[in-house]
Amino acid sequence: MSETSIRGSSESPEQTDYDAVIVGAGFSGLYELHRLRDELGLSVKVIEKASDVGGTWYWNRYPGARCDSESHVYCYSFNDELLDEWDWSERYPEQPEVLEYLRLAADHLDLRRDIEFDTEVTTAEFDDSAGTWKIHTDDGETVRSQFFITAVGCLSKPFIPDFEGIESFEGWWTHTGKWPHDPVDFEDKQVAVVGTGATGIQIIPEIATSNPAHLTVFQRTPNYAVPARNRPLDEDDRAEIRDNYDEIFDLAHSSGFGHPFEAAYDTAEGLSMEEVEKRLEPRWEEGGFRFMLTFGDLVTSAETNEKVSEFIRQKIRETVDDPDLAEKLVPRDHYYATKRPPLHTDYYRTYNRDDVSLVDVTETPIERITPSGIRTSETEHEFDMIVYATGFDAMTGTLLQMDIQGRNGLTLEEKWEDGPKTYLGLGIHGFPNMFTITGPQSPSVLTNMPVSIEHHVEWISDAVEHLVRNDIRLIEPTKEAEESWTVHNRQVAEQTLYPTADSWYMNQNIPDKPTVFTPYIGGADLYHDTIREVAEKGYEGFELTESVTNLGQQGEQPRLRVMEGD
Ligand code: FAD
Ligand code: NAP
Repeated sequence: MSETSIRGSSESPEQTDYDAVIVGAGFSGLYELHRLRDELGLSVKVIEKASDVGGTWYWNRYPGARCDSESHVYCYSFNDELLDEWDWSERYPEQPEVLEYLRLAADHLDLRRDIEFDTEVTTAEFDDSAGTWKIHTDDGETVRSQFFITAVGCLSKPFIPDFEGIESFEGWWTHTGKWPHDPVDFEDKQVAVVGTGATGIQIIPEIATSNPAHLTVFQRTPNYAVPARNRPLDEDDRAEIRDNYDEIFDLAHSSGFGHPFEAAYDTAEGLSMEEVEKRLEPRWEEGGFRFMLTFGDLVTSAETNEKVSEFIRQKIRETVDDPDLAEKLVPRDHYYATKRPPLHTDYYRTYNRDDVSLVDVTETPIERITPSGIRTSETEHEFDMIVYATGFDAMTGTLLQMDIQGRNGLTLEEKWEDGPKTYLGLGIHGFPNMFTITGPQSPSVLTNMPVSIEHHVEWISDAVEHLVRNDIRLIEPTKEAEESWTVHNRQVAEQTLYPTADSWYMNQNIPDKPTVFTPYIGGADLYHDTIREVAEKGYEGFELTESVTNLGQQGEQPRLRVMEGD
């Protein structure tokens, strides 16, 4: 391979520090760096606020943190050497193992030399006259780049409710997404966990078995958790996976949810509960997300969903010894899977322990945090430690945390005042040359994410290559394309049961956020076809501009090169 300038010698001198700046060094940012740097030969900088690669798996170090995706598909598929080099130890790997995998990927692809760690992007401004991005960081530096690519994660801005007195607590407390690097000792401690989402459901059994003096769980809404049925993988399992990698990844990459499961087309409508149980029982025993794919109309038919929900409720009642407690743990306020459905290991059994109790905060709301614990409307509970498993300002939170300013100083916050508006979850009108990996209005969190991440990274890299090779300076979605995608997103969501739940998919976990279904629920398979067709039609719905003068203002043109094959 040799590097060749594809621009003529008469062009103006380079005005940017980098061809592309990427924010974030998780699954998304690492792969994007590799594609742009190693396959296109562009100069790229990744800026990452953590001290190492890993993203989610760097930050979420709480006990019990592990994947709900199965290990053999919770990884990159693009590099055969990485696939050969890495062996997963379990069906669902724990956080240290996923982090180790991403570290290995970064080393294998020699990515670290282009990542600036311990640095946060605070502002990114589009410079109208130059047609480039100015990116400011918390160390006072500014870099200029032609492309600005966010790989900031959908679940990376932790959220703690604004409980009165929260800072006054004199014991130890943290959010699960900011877990310390040193081991945390729960032995003989009075421990509180607030929150029973996917995170709470993982950490609660772990704390309960760490010999606390007592564990008290504060639950607002019970969840439907399905058994994970984790198990170690042996050499035979791994050999079978290796032998079938092509089929596994083909299936995952062409499926509606990014998992290697065949689509379901059956309905439970009209079936007796006995028949429904007969169909669900083997999937329950198998464990994992395939349970959700027993009936194809789970999230569109209230009748099917109610039958599946009732099956899970019955399992909870069978597991929890105390019938009153079981009823508190049984969800009735939402349809199964309309909130992100967690997998669990021993979650419900944990409540049979004498040293674990549940406070239902819908009955006795949390009034405030005190220096010694949590005061509810009923009593004051004393604690040595409080763990907030209270989730994230998801999907848009981390993007809006950066002050992103597009053309004519338009801020992303202003633009998204009533909820996100994007074209394909990849680009935003008014923000040229900015791409959002797994942005809002893309399938992202409704899928096995490495699959969606690979699709996005490859699409963005191809778009960048197209621009560079064709001397196109700017790419920006048209207003019409963006509006029509936003309307389509809403219409597809309205055909499902999802909008009936108070969920983070609907932004309802964060006070004052506009209520709108944020990921794209049309199916990852159809979505991938759509973005492929858009590219094949010359980036239909995007405006491609050859010169920044077309913006009405004269500007210097930076020089980009792509690597040419020998
Ligand atoms: P992230 O991993 O979130 O990385 C984003 C990075 O951007 C972070 O390192 C962050 O520090 C950095 N960043 C953000 N803002 C800035 C800024 N302004 N300046 C500098 N750096 C910044 N998905 C699945 O598909 N299957 C699973 O089983 C699964 N399990 C999960 C378990 C947990 C506990 C959580 C929280 C999420 C899980 N997810 C799962 C979702 C998970 O987030 C994705 O699978 C994936 O890791 C996302 O990778 P990413 O690179 O897009 O984002
Ligand atoms: P979450 O699903 O948003 O759950 C937050 C919990 O905190 C909920 O039980 C919520 O109750 C509760 N809560 C929030 N505010 C509260 C308040 N003021 N008072 C009392 N309770 C309050 O967050 P999460 O569990 O961290 O999970 C977020 C997402 O991360 C998941 O949905 C999933 O996508 C990902 N994740 C994945 C895995 C995995 O795959 N293994 C593990 C962990 C996380 P309400 O339900 O009433 O709002």
